[in-house]
Amino acid sequence: MLVIRIGLVMLQGARHVHISSLNKAARDSNIEIKIIQLRKSSDLLIEEIHAIIIPGGESTTMRLTGNSSDSLLLPSLLDWLRKRPNLPVLGTCAGAILLSDPQDGKESLIDATINRNAYGRQIDSFQAEIQTPLLERTFPGVFIRAPKFNSDVSAEDVVAVCDGEVVGVRKGNRIALTFHPELSEDVGFHRWLIERASTIMEVKNVS
Ligand code: GLN
Repeated sequence: MLVIRIGLVMLQGARHVHISSLNKAARDSNIEIKIIQLRKSSDLLIEEIHAIIIPGGESTTMRLTGNSSDSLLLPSLLDWLRKRPNLPVLGTCAGAILLSDPQDGKESLIDATINRNAYGRQIDSFQAEIQTPLLERTFPGVFIRAPKFNSDVSAEDVVAVCDGEVVGVRKGNRIALTFHPELSEDVGFHRWLIERASTIMEVKNVS
């Protein structure tokens, strides 16, 4: 049976909750997964990875830890992803910031610009229902010092909307969400990631 290996970026932030969401999503979709925890650049080379999650947290801290000489995961990961434009990626909140604004002088990984902490401070965190054309239903959104995409997003790239605001953007198989899908019971986005990776693997194995 195919095993889908998901690289989970462990630099900082809400990374552990993604493990339970991924395991639940894998059970629901009946796909076997292995989670590879990524802390340093060499972790990308241990096994073939079929999908990536970049969690939320604090993008400034992630940039610091990810660029530190004992990790160097961040520059390696960004280049590794650029070489794999079809690889499924889920970037949430700070993860969405890193995808939209990699700050390494190279092209961004999502076609949208983003504004950090655009809703205000920690106290302005909130929950709200999201409409998501990607999952074709509503989704419970948890926003924690969330960023906002600027209005430069093309309509066809929008995968989630909250109160008229774009809160999810897609570029091929990469998705950037400004909320925390791992903090809700609904594992729809994690399922999407696993199923996309599995479909890509199956197509590769047939051809
Ligand atoms: N405000 C954070 C940042 O700038 C993101 C918040 C989050 O990931 N929950 O990185």
